[in-house]
Amino acid sequence: MGAYADFHRRSIEDREAFWAEEAQRIHWHRPFDSVLDFRRPPFAKWFVGGEINLCFNAIDRHLAARGDQPALVYISSETDTQRSYSYRELHREVNVMAAVIAAQGVGRGDRVLLYMPMIPEAVFAMLACARLGAIHSVVFGGFAAASCASRIDDAKPKLLVTADAGLRGGRAIHYKPLVDEALRLAQHPPQKVLIVDRGIDTTMQRIPGRDVDYATEAEKHAGAQVPVVWLEASEPSYILYTSGTTGKPKGVQRDTGGYAVALASSMQHLYAGKPGETMFTTSDVGWVVGHSYIVYGPLIHGMTTILYEGLPIRPDAGIWWKIVQEHKVTVMFSSPTAARVLKKQDPAWLKKYDLSSLRHLFLAGEPLDEPTHRWLHDAIGKPVIDHYWQTETGWPILSLAPGIEPATVKYGSPGFPVYGYDLKLLREADASEAAAGEKGVLTIAPPLPPGCMSTVWGDDGRFVSTYFRTFPKLQLYSTFDWGVRDADGYTFILGRTDDVINVAGHRIGTREIEEAVQAHPNIAEVAVVGVADAVKGQMPLAFAVVKDASTLQDTAGIERTEREVMAAVDRNLGAIARPRRVLFVTLLPKTRSGKLLRRSLQALAEGRDPGDLTTIEDPAALEQISNVLRT
Ligand code: ATP
Ligand code: MG
Repeated sequence: MGAYADFHRRSIEDREAFWAEEAQRIHWHRPFDSVLDFRRPPFAKWFVGGEINLCFNAIDRHLAARGDQPALVYISSETDTQRSYSYRELHREVNVMAAVIAAQGVGRGDRVLLYMPMIPEAVFAMLACARLGAIHSVVFGGFAAASCASRIDDAKPKLLVTADAGLRGGRAIHYKPLVDEALRLAQHPPQKVLIVDRGIDTTMQRIPGRDVDYATEAEKHAGAQVPVVWLEASEPSYILYTSGTTGKPKGVQRDTGGYAVALASSMQHLYAGKPGETMFTTSDVGWVVGHSYIVYGPLIHGMTTILYEGLPIRPDAGIWWKIVQEHKVTVMFSSPTAARVLKKQDPAWLKKYDLSSLRHLFLAGEPLDEPTHRWLHDAIGKPVIDHYWQTETGWPILSLAPGIEPATVKYGSPGFPVYGYDLKLLREADASEAAAGEKGVLTIAPPLPPGCMSTVWGDDGRFVSTYFRTFPKLQLYSTFDWGVRDADGYTFILGRTDDVINVAGHRIGTREIEEAVQAHPNIAEVAVVGVADAVKGQMPLAFAVVKDASTLQDTAGIERTEREVMAAVDRNLGAIARPRRVLFVTLLPKTRSGKLLRRSLQALAEGRDPGDLTTIEDPAALEQISNVLRT
């Protein structure tokens, strides 16, 4: 048995001893009394009685050995700035921010909603909340006012921290009017709004008595030293809402001790980063990846983290690789969406910079199709590790673990169950274990490992009824994703359990059809949905974006491409899965986190209302879809 398989087995069979050891990676103010309290399943409490602070572990603990090492490097291709903060400087900034936040009446257990662009103050504010024992809830900057308002009403924050504006592709997005509108819509608006004025929106209005200017307050608190508030390990560190791809977002509540241990451990075993090195995660602080691997993970591990504001292709498609070269990045983390964007650019950009420092590139967030995986691997000449996780888990569920065993990548697979996860692939019908090569629902036998959500914020009942309802007798956590394991134990994700369509009694995952469509060399991106059909129950319908649009110039070209795509599906999956139509568009509707909004696509295709669109990236995509559906 391989080293990793042994490691994983020990994490399950000797769970408490395993995690007690991993817990030594962080600083405990008071040691825990017991490793796990699982007396009230499925609720798990890790490191009971231990006292800890995330901010102390991310900053203070490193001051003696790494005070002058860069902790945070802010790079904005939007404003063409770069600023570096050593651990000592970060400590100073976070203390000032903590003093300012505390002065607004925020203390232990209070919620603070952050609606911020990718600027250092966003990181300062997260760490400052952690220092104070306050619970942050970061809402992705740029979400519409209604999305922000519904999260405000759920979290009931005492304070909201924002900036005058964010920037995207050179365009300013004024945050303050959005925040004002959100506070008007909300039933439980916070008393105070703290504003970081970047000087972008020179017309910004302030509401006296409510709005507080950060620069003015920071001056008053210059040099402040704010003591850390030690929390019991299971006290919440933050609330983060899921992306809302499948419906109403769920408020994921994270603990403090288990999260710190899981992150410290993953930095070592999964990401194989070394203290003193640099990690570059291209996500946003508004997503779970940003929480875990822009902010807390790398800092807890004593690494330098890069905070990048901007697009992957501006000023040019070499910008990320230039960052890797200049900052000697050893660990990089991005998304399949970004990979597909880069794939459409001139490949020369990938050859222009020296990527020799880089050891691994990790991707997560949505399915990574095999052609893109292969392309990226070849282009950078380093292992590209797809790994699978959810906002709920806070760190990976399936991955390779190059910190334990060199990575042997299989294209299209995120690898093996991560240690700590007792993963089961179950037949939906009777909850029995699926055989190798057979599709099943990916489930986790509780206790969920450290780092995973402790509950749904303010609603224990919803935690149980949402996640543990698929197999209630067994009380297993459902990921709501399909998977299949091959003979070597590699797992492949086949899409979400609600993305299955039923064609004349055959159950087919839309992801499988998409993979088959993608086998056509001219398809850049595709979305398949099931639409109601009087005869067959449901029929697949494909919306595709082509790489080379010149093939679609006339009707003959369109028809030919459509026929070729259908033939590709026939060949790879069988005629039963053949889409009724393949419709060509230039843009697919996605959430702000880059995930396909299949439920809205399907609704439109069936002539229904597209539903909640507050998390959509570009509404123009839906207009286009409506137009092609009409014609
Ligand atoms: P909601 O739960 O509100 O509908 P969401 O599931 O999109 O939103 P996230 O927690 O951001 O919110 O996304 C997790 C999901 O993303 C996973 O359940 C899975 O469907 C998909 N996913 C993440 N990583 C991968 C991956 N490497 N391969 C395939 N799918 C992935
Ligand atoms: Mg989800």
